[in-house]
Amino acid sequence: MKVTKFGGSSMADAGQYRKVRDILLADPDRKVVVVSAAGKRFSGDHKLTDLLYLCYSHVKYGVDCSPIFDMITSRYLDIQKDLNLNLDLAPELEDLKKRVAAKQVSREELVSRGEYFSAKLMASYLGFRFIDAADWVCFDMDGKVNLEKSYAALQGLMTPGMGAVIPGFYGAMPDGAIHTFSRGGSDITGSLAAAALDAEVYENWTDVSGILMADPRIVDDPLSIPEVTYDELRELSYSGAQVLHEGTIFPVREKNIPLNIRNTNDPDHPGT
Ligand code: ASP
Repeated sequence: MKVTKFGGSSMADAGQYRKVRDILLADPDRKVVVVSAAGKRFSGDHKLTDLLYLCYSHVKYGVDCSPIFDMITSRYLDIQKDLNLNLDLAPELEDLKKRVAAKQVSREELVSRGEYFSAKLMASYLGFRFIDAADWVCFDMDGKVNLEKSYAALQGLMTPGMGAVIPGFYGAMPDGAIHTFSRGGSDITGSLAAAALDAEVYENWTDVSGILMADPRIVDDPLSIPEVTYDELRELSYSGAQVLHEGTIFPVREKNIPLNIRNTNDPDHPGT
């Protein structure tokens, strides 16, 4: 079984959802899908998570967040409509909007909803089960993930033979409150899912074909590096290579699970 994770650019619009489905259909072992919130569709566009943080700040300082919240709503409802899904997120989004305005939603819960709604849409599109990260990614009081408890919880939630979609980026504190990783943390959720399920490989699908030899914004078409060690990858992530969250390596490394960085927009490229 393979665990796959799709980043924000792979979840940006209905066209990207179709690419994700094609990638999953190409290999029936790709049974577990971890998703990010919708990312930018074009340069200058907004990341959903940024809009959610902005929304929270507006409410905190007593400014009406409706215009921003409505942008968030339409991003998700457009995907729902374009893919012709049976699912209707409108009532849940409406309810969230009311609770946010009434200051009933914590900052972490609000910003986690980008991944939550992405996963709901993707699960409906694929006909996979939705497994909420809050039901298995367990944080201890010190904010560290309790690996044993989390792994056992995910194993217990899986239905054998059935695909699952999991929102990245968050989990739950011992009292059930939503807690998020730092920005870019959906990569960690994918790595935890791969370790929990003893996956054959953890595929991290993004918008570049693996670890590149140079920054593609500076150098045209740099080649990708076919293989790096876990150590090299961790060092590259720490030093700002912007490919993976640095917390991603530990869970898969501990179980000796290979990590394959791939490009949703060039699925035949083997990546790193
Ligand atoms: N959506 C979150 C962020 O923008 C987490 C992630 O995409 O990994 O940081």
